Amino acid sequence: MSLTRKIKDPTDAKRRRMVEDYVMAKGVDDKRVIEAMLKVPRHLFVEPALAELAYNDHATPIGSSQTITQPYTVAILAQEAELKGDECVLEVGTGSGYTTSILALLCQRVYTIERINSLSNKARKIFNKLGYNNIVCFTGDGTIGIAKHAPYDAIVVTAGAPKVPIPLAKQLKPQARMVIPLDNGTGQIMTVVTRTKGMHFKVDKKADCSFVPLIGKHGWSK
Ligand code: SAH
Repeated sequence: MSLTRKIKDPTDAKRRRMVEDYVMAKGVDDKRVIEAMLKVPRHLFVEPALAELAYNDHATPIGSSQTITQPYTVAILAQEAELKGDECVLEVGTGSGYTTSILALLCQRVYTIERINSLSNKARKIFNKLGYNNIVCFTGDGTIGIAKHAPYDAIVVTAGAPKVPIPLAKQLKPQARMVIPLDNGTGQIMTVVTRTKGMHFKVDKKADCSFVPLIGKHGWSK
């Protein structure tokens, strides 16, 4: 796919470079994911003092000891969710709201939950500013899911879990996918858990990854 087009603002060029060098060059080829990553102004989701670092392929601090997920990993999360456009998605771990924003461009509605109130509030303000009005924010322990809006067409977890949180598995629609980083004793593996039938699931291990811990009733204790 050619990314040549008129550059409208200086961050357009940075986004294009980010997508070409860290997303497409590493094998992500989902056109909708690429388009979304070209659009969302990632620099708005980090502290202004760190805006220069926003388009590097790193996890960058966002306050409260948490980090914005690195571009390549966001692309893999989004690609593995296999969204077509009409889904309702649950995201666990709003963080800066960057991954939420990418998902919001790929599906009909995103319910996102964050355990740290200040991060949730900050993300909410950015969503309003950018006019992403298909995002619904919650504050609390996302390892228990959000039963009120379940079942979901996809669940995306953006923090590393010790095991699949059972309440989340139960909130998947039949055939729906959960993308979740799981601990394997030595590191984390991005894992796709597909609900095949009833409480039967298929587990596919994808790439190595590195996320902050998923802390909660069905996650780590701290
Ligand atoms: N994807 C986000 C960053 C994820 S960092 C981004 O692009 O910015 C992971 C986030 O998960 C952190 O903000 C952390 O506070 C949050 N988190 C950890 N455990 C959680 C839980 N049980 N419920 C909700 N959020 C949780």
